[in-house]
Amino acid sequence: MKGKIGQWHDDKGFGFIFSDDGAEKVFFHISSLKTSSRRPQVGDSVVYESALDAKQRLQAKAVVIEGLAAQASPQRNLKPIQVSPPRKNALDYLLMLIVLGCLGKLGWDFYQTRLINEAMAPYAIALVVAFLVLNRQKKPKEKQFSCARCNTVANFDARTIQAWNNGFLKLYCNPCHQRWLRENPVQPVHRYAASRGSGCLVLLCVFSVLPVLAALAIYNWMT
Ligand SMILES: [Zn+2]
Repeated sequence: MKGKIGQWHDDKGFGFIFSDDGAEKVFFHISSLKTSSRRPQVGDSVVYESALDAKQRLQAKAVVIEGLAAQASPQRNLKPIQVSPPRKNALDYLLMLIVLGCLGKLGWDFYQTRLINEAMAPYAIALVVAFLVLNRQKKPKEKQFSCARCNTVANFDARTIQAWNNGFLKLYCNPCHQRWLRENPVQPVHRYAASRGSGCLVLLCVFSVLPVLAALAIYNWMT
């Protein structure tokens, strides 16, 4: 079949092909593209095969953009982008020391005096600030990643940056993510929890101690 790309969502990696005879509008995912020298654009003339997918919708297969050389296997020629994991730098280790140090100091003082007093305030503030900076969202060095499922090169967005911050290096493009959500309506929580390695203990400490400290401080201040 011959047609033209009538709609293209480059960020999401899909669009629609309108056949030249006007008979069909066919869903087109970037993974069906056989040319890889550039990404599709609205107005590209294409040659394609249409087939019904599992949900009986027309989907384009083996799409070739006319005027671009077809490649037998785009997957093999596309170099997957290696995304490097978030790195802790000297600042992060310093912050972890500050958090643990402040927690220790506050805990020890409270153990000694059974009181919350103003002298503790600087440590509490340092603790909160260090904790917030430590858990700031980092940005990956790479601007793009290769989808772990369909191999499409996709741009990082809020969702994938969040996932990357949570320690995921296998990232999925939006169409694959949407498909995954449809197929797995209940999100497995344990995957998320298991992904956090170091820093978990610090998190646990701070989250368990901070509310207690805050409650005690308010109680002290009120009475
Ligand atoms: Zn994908």
